[in-house]
Amino acid sequence: MASQPMSVILHGGAGKLQTQHVKRKLPFLRKALDAAWEQLCDGKPGEFAVAAALRVMEGCEFFNAGFGGYPNINGVVLLDIGLMRGTRDFVSLLNVRRVKYPSAIVLDMLCHHRTLMTIWTHELMEQVNQAPLFIRERYGWVRSHEDLIAPYVKKLMQERKALEVSQDGGTHGTVGCVVRDANGKLFSGTSTGGVSFKYNGRIGDTPIIGSGVFADDDVCALSTTGHGESFLLSMLSGYIIDAMRQAQRKQEKVFEKSPKKLTKLLRDEIDE
Ligand code: ASP
Repeated sequence: MASQPMSVILHGGAGKLQTQHVKRKLPFLRKALDAAWEQLCDGKPGEFAVAAALRVMEGCEFFNAGFGGYPNINGVVLLDIGLMRGTRDFVSLLNVRRVKYPSAIVLDMLCHHRTLMTIWTHELMEQVNQAPLFIRERYGWVRSHEDLIAPYVKKLMQERKALEVSQDGGTHGTVGCVVRDANGKLFSGTSTGGVSFKYNGRIGDTPIIGSGVFADDDVCALSTTGHGESFLLSMLSGYIIDAMRQAQRKQEKVFEKSPKKLTKLLRDEIDE
């Protein structure tokens, strides 16, 4: 692995997009890529690169994450996020309110005080509310959950329609990033507002280890976007990870030698 080049792969959500909307998103994907790359070139561990990329997209109203996250059925933006190292360190936050950059919080949690999955409680919210200004700024703390509803999303809500419509009729725009850093280690992060007009408290695949986010230095780094319930019920990511692991056990560096085998494996698992 260490002999392989550094790399960054991003996504900015699934669904059928209007061309106009894609054009708005592209410059921010570019910025996110540059932000991650800069961290890697500075020799930072991959989790910093992932968080840097997610932060750019969370700050942009055209992505369904952070500022721009789609509100739930009660009009509240509740965010989910997961971050993982290929050494099998993982943190996730569920139902995060009133922060633009949940990526900054999970990065701190991964580096300092690790719990696997954490629900964003009232007490955690109060802790941020009382934290020093620089921390509130780093996390993008806002006064009211309404401040998280971006103008673009407000417009969508008024029209009660989405510019991104998937086959299931839901709306997407989740952001994700996977990275291989200068030490050949893998990292992954996924951040979302969930599906639009979701039920209060609903959690999708995004913050679930081995579903919306996964990294293992010997297998792969993965970040998904799409209809969360379908991902969870089909265990698609789990089957993909397992199929990749089996193939790599049979033949070392199989996907580096024949990348088409990976494409086929992914197609087969998705079809199934
Ligand atoms: N997978 C996310 C969820 O179900 C939504 C998305 O990727 O657009 O919460």
